[in-house]
Amino acid sequence: MDQYSILGRIGEGAHGIVFKAKHIESGDIVALKKVPLRKLDDGIPNTALREIKALQEIEENQHVVKLREVFPHGTGFVLVFEFMLSDLSEVVRSADLPLTEAQVKSYMLMLLKGVAYCHDNSIMHRDLKPANLLISESGHLKLADFGLARVFSTDEGRQYSHQVATRWYRAPELLYGARKYDEGVDIWAVGCIFGELLNNSPLFPGENDIEQLCCVLRILGTPTEKTWPGMEELPDYNKITFPENPPIPLEKVVPDASAEALDLLKKFLVYPSNRRISAAEALLHPYFFTAPLPAHHTELPKPQRSKKFRHRGGHQKEYDVDVPLEHTLLDPDSIAAYV
Ligand code: ADP
Ligand code: MG
Repeated sequence: MDQYSILGRIGEGAHGIVFKAKHIESGDIVALKKVPLRKLDDGIPNTALREIKALQEIEENQHVVKLREVFPHGTGFVLVFEFMLSDLSEVVRSADLPLTEAQVKSYMLMLLKGVAYCHDNSIMHRDLKPANLLISESGHLKLADFGLARVFSTDEGRQYSHQVATRWYRAPELLYGARKYDEGVDIWAVGCIFGELLNNSPLFPGENDIEQLCCVLRILGTPTEKTWPGMEELPDYNKITFPENPPIPLEKVVPDASAEALDLLKKFLVYPSNRRISAAEALLHPYFFTAPLPAHHTELPKPQRSKKFRHRGGHQKEYDVDVPLEHTLLDPDSIAAYV
């Protein structure tokens, strides 16, 4: 820890506090993420180890944030990342105008490349959302926050926690309590992010879990065994019934989107996970090959990190029930120095 001097506090999420720091020897600016290590009741290490394992597993990719080193600290770990100027939620929020079609294409291309790379390496991120997509000084987008990431197995019987992903981006199978799911949960989140970039506002902004399902069902229509085979077997299917309603055409929901954008969006937001387009397939969609072509990174909004430290929560609460929310790692001195 004494190889770094802390310059300030950048952010705080569900799993840790992130500081901006300087590596004293090289002068490099980095982000330090302090994460507590806590064993769950069954002895399985928690999110800190998952994040480390996932990031080490995927080595290096242009669209995944680089983990420089990891060291134990107090009762947990410090993860040292390349420093990124901003994140996509901040870029969207601070943009005066909605992003242009070329800019949206460029972000979607980088997002899909990162996701395709993870899926290719059997990793599902499970918490894709604008705040976890970091933007570098040069305008590049990289996937970050692998705190909920899992190495997925091809073992059919494998069960996972359904309490993953921030609510607005949570796939319908998770909302119905599925414990067997796959990387399609990331594709759903990609669809939500795409809709948000196109509309400049979140697609399914549910205020609680029930309302979240209502938001999805209102737009995509109430699912049936025909549109979603196997739905009736989901754990929470019988706990709640919604009045039947037909889907609203997506062109009404995202009125300014081009025909190609709508076609791709429809392929992400499909009830059965196995019918969602894969990230690799999506990269070949005509959307990316028709004018306007994806913007060059120099034509993307110049990211600026807001001075004011944002607290977790705000208008959107983090929702990660299977992770510890307290920061056992921080000693009182460092808290006093930065709050
Ligand atoms: P959490 O699991 O707590 O959400 P994140 O890894 O998402 O942790 O980090 C929280 C916030 O800190 C991010 O939304 C981002 O704004 C900021 N942050 C994270 N990593 C970096 C980084 N490498 N460079 C700059 N800022 C970062
Ligand atoms: Mg995060």
